[in-house]
Amino acid sequence: MKNWETKNGYQITRVLAGRSNVFLISKGGRNILVDTSPAGLWKKLERNLRRLGVERLDALVLTHTHYDHAGNAARVQEKYKAPVIVQRFEASFLAGGEAIVPHGTNFLGRLLIDHLGKNLVPRLKCPPCRPDLQVDDTLSLADFGFNAHIVHTPGHSPGSQSVVVDDEIALVGDAMFGVVPWSVFPPFASDAGQLLESWGKLLATNCRLFLPSHGTANPRALVQKNFDRRKRLEPQKTIM
Ligand SMILES: [Zn+2]
Repeated sequence: MKNWETKNGYQITRVLAGRSNVFLISKGGRNILVDTSPAGLWKKLERNLRRLGVERLDALVLTHTHYDHAGNAARVQEKYKAPVIVQRFEASFLAGGEAIVPHGTNFLGRLLIDHLGKNLVPRLKCPPCRPDLQVDDTLSLADFGFNAHIVHTPGHSPGSQSVVVDDEIALVGDAMFGVVPWSVFPPFASDAGQLLESWGKLLATNCRLFLPSHGTANPRALVQKNFDRRKRLEPQKTIM
């Protein structure tokens, strides 16, 4: 399993990759899981956590409540006794297992959502899960023993949030993609302008790496380049 380490010894392990990345932040025997993958990957997630020796989690942070991130939230909450942390904007979706359908930000994304969106809705639902802690904008994770904090990074979805670890590595969910080498812009977003503001917030940290839920790590220089380019395009409509 791929692993990153910050200068103060925080370990970030990619527990699952491929379909949707799941990350574990660990230090001194404490563990926070970020996202849970789609429901169909539960056995694999369980197995990989067992391999890492994780029996209990101090918290589960959901970057947002799309089905490929929150699909196993209820199971993780129960099995690992993990309090579930979500932005207040999406708490009701999580509690009700409701699907949020985003807008496409490029031709393919729009085509998919416009033509298939309605049929997809039942498949985009998650098993309902109790939101234990609802975040209003930011939350320090110091109470959980981590030099880390949550920051509201909406745009892909209204309640998207990122976790900044040790002011060095950020886990950004779908606020960025890491699938193609020239762009970090996600193919789906509820508000592209808001997303750009969220990138600004993330770039205001000292983070050198931005780990997305889909694809590989984005270095700071690439994110800055994308940010500058899209800022120049504003207020024109952003096209991928
Ligand atoms: Zn998403």
